Amino acid sequence: MGLAREIEKRWPDAQIYQSSLAEAEGGEALLLRLRGKGLLAVSGRLRVQFEGEDRETIRLCPTSRANRLALNRAFPYTAPKALGSKAATFGFGDRLGYANPMQLASLEGTGFLPVLAQQSMRELSLMGRSYGQVIDTASWAAFRQGWKLGFAADGDHLKTLDEVQAALDAGCTMITLDCSLALGTPPDDEPDRGHWPEDYLQSKAAKELDLNFDDALLWQLEQTYSGALKLARDVAQKAIHPAGREIDFELSVDETEDVTSAQAHFYIIHELRRSGVELCSLAPRFVGEFQKAVDYMGDLRELRAQMRAHARLADHFGHKLSLHSASEKFSVFSIFAEETKGRCHVKTSGTSWLEAVECIAKVSPCLFRDMFSKALASLNQAKQLYAVQCAPDRIPAPDKLNDSELPTLMELAQSDFRQLMHITYGFILADEDLNERICTFMEEHRSLYEAEALDLYRRHMAVIGR
Ligand code: ZN
Repeated sequence: MGLAREIEKRWPDAQIYQSSLAEAEGGEALLLRLRGKGLLAVSGRLRVQFEGEDRETIRLCPTSRANRLALNRAFPYTAPKALGSKAATFGFGDRLGYANPMQLASLEGTGFLPVLAQQSMRELSLMGRSYGQVIDTASWAAFRQGWKLGFAADGDHLKTLDEVQAALDAGCTMITLDCSLALGTPPDDEPDRGHWPEDYLQSKAAKELDLNFDDALLWQLEQTYSGALKLARDVAQKAIHPAGREIDFELSVDETEDVTSAQAHFYIIHELRRSGVELCSLAPRFVGEFQKAVDYMGDLRELRAQMRAHARLADHFGHKLSLHSASEKFSVFSIFAEETKGRCHVKTSGTSWLEAVECIAKVSPCLFRDMFSKALASLNQAKQLYAVQCAPDRIPAPDKLNDSELPTLMELAQSDFRQLMHITYGFILADEDLNERICTFMEEHRSLYEAEALDLYRRHMAVIGR
């Protein structure tokens, strides 16, 4: 008898994830939920690789770190890997740890590969989680969905060599180096400008790409980027290359006020190449506003022209163009996909949290109101971490709304409220009472959340997926 049949017979109330069923090394394994707990069931000789309790021929195993590592060995598709510069990739965040399975489901048939475990240091410290835990969640999700195409784990918006090293030690396969702290720091030693004429002023490649350089521009680029380039070289030479495995290295200059010109893009890539550093992707700062939780604000025609110029450079050098803060940027997706011809990386993050807030608004008005009050009380502090316009005087007072009106606060048009809830998640979850009630809510309403999250991500994919 197969493992699934045996479980159905023995525990009729178990919820079996049929898509997880897999065979390896003389046994079967699958994921199930039994009395509110996720468990791995294993049969045959495969059992010895996992720790758990035996019920006759079946071993029931907790979804622990040790069992996740054993799962990675027995079923390599459950371990994160580098995805490379050819694949179209979509980055998701899953702060609460409930969204990964539906994020995978939403990608089916789209041509995108997932970056499933993706957290910044800011998110991890606000959530009290570690990279290891985030990768655990992603591995179990890949197993549950039977997702065999692979996924990456992104140490997102890392700012120092130490942060990069910690992410690599935990098993991240992608590094997003955020250079914002190093931008505008002039070179500390006398820079070498001897290659300027050949590499820029009279460069054939630059000419073919319609890029003009002169001394003044190069001097300015040097002032702006030399600190960032030094950091990128350090990270590549001291952490990424010594890791001895494939790592997708993304450089992000998006979190700054200065729009990245095509010349700057060319300069960054060229200077890195001179020192043997290859990027997998570059996230420029595009024109307009990419604020959290709301659609793009800016001139779409200007944005398209800029994306076209950057995509041309990415094609020329062979790396991917990356778009950050992409959740809810419905008006931008098709432009970005068209201009990059689908060879791109798209990064979203907080939208899975907002979906949880929306579910709570629909089902648990009392909890929602308490979260709302906490969010308002923490807004000023949160605004120091995230650059948003969010104005509290444009948000309706919670006691002016009746319960049935609460979900309307989550509509896209309510940008102030959405941003409020987006940026205060750390404060809300740091409150012990709220944290416990939110976790209980998520456990009890897992299927509602999954249905809503799947719908949300499918709406994103419908605009950008192939
Ligand atoms: Zn970014």
